[in-house]
Amino acid sequence: MEELLRIIVRSYKGYSSHIWETITHPFETYNYFTLLILVSLAVWSLEIIFPWRKRQSVIRKGFWIDAFYMFFNFYIFNLIVFIALSNTTAHLFGETIEWIGLPENNLIDLSAWNPWVQLTAYFLIADFVQWSIHRLLHRIPWLWRFHRVHHSVTEMGFAAHLRYHFMESVFYKTTLYIFLGYIFNFKLEYAFFLHAGTIIIGHVNHANVGWGYGPFKYVLNNPKMHIWHHAKELPESHPNGVNFGISLSLWDYIFKTNYIPSDGRDIPLGFDEVEKFPTTFFAQQAEAFKSEK
Ligand SMILES: [Zn+2]
Ligand SMILES: [Zn+2]
Repeated sequence: MEELLRIIVRSYKGYSSHIWETITHPFETYNYFTLLILVSLAVWSLEIIFPWRKRQSVIRKGFWIDAFYMFFNFYIFNLIVFIALSNTTAHLFGETIEWIGLPENNLIDLSAWNPWVQLTAYFLIADFVQWSIHRLLHRIPWLWRFHRVHHSVTEMGFAAHLRYHFMESVFYKTTLYIFLGYIFNFKLEYAFFLHAGTIIIGHVNHANVGWGYGPFKYVLNNPKMHIWHHAKELPESHPNGVNFGISLSLWDYIFKTNYIPSDGRDIPLGFDEVEKFPTTFFAQQAEAFKSEK
């Protein structure tokens, strides 16, 4: 236990100075703070220049809370709390595999491959792992209580991308750690590029732009597809949800969870009684931990 506490404290110290460094040196390479701001401004500009719902305000309903979520989840939570958590996870995981008797080394080591092939392989693996977790978030009732925060958006825009409960980071990152870190020996220096790619695609998927990418829709997730993931009414054939894709739509087409029945520009978003869901950050975080009424 003491060992764990020491790891947590060390991680916090290390990463709070790291955060300060990135804020005070915005133009250094691999700066997540600058990345998030630049991508957000770029995608916001696209919404303003090519709006899909023309009557939607540039600063839509929920914009400011989502702006806060962006920095909290992507930046504050990911880079401070999560890294502390992931170091403990790494430690606990190491102990667990030793206890089970699994090999300590990576099961499949991709690190000797050509960097581009590695990057592509990791992107595909990470996206499929996240697609699978996303399906579980919809299927398992206690997980859905956390994931409802993301679905509480009733007017869609780029910033909604990072509106999600902090526990989702724990679910996603722990699983990704196991797959990418332990099984495949992912090199951390590639993480920035993967993050940059997924942030751009994710922002666009939630943006108020009516893009479907023509024939590329079978591979790349897109705003016309993801809006149906947020539809208030689900088809009877898929009561647990549709279009679970994160960056790629490919998995939905392979596993037949794809669903775009018509133009989703103006469909109602959310879930049953979404109007009763809290609208402030702390109340939304707390809601998931309340017992079902
Ligand atoms: Zn979802
Ligand atoms: Zn979404």
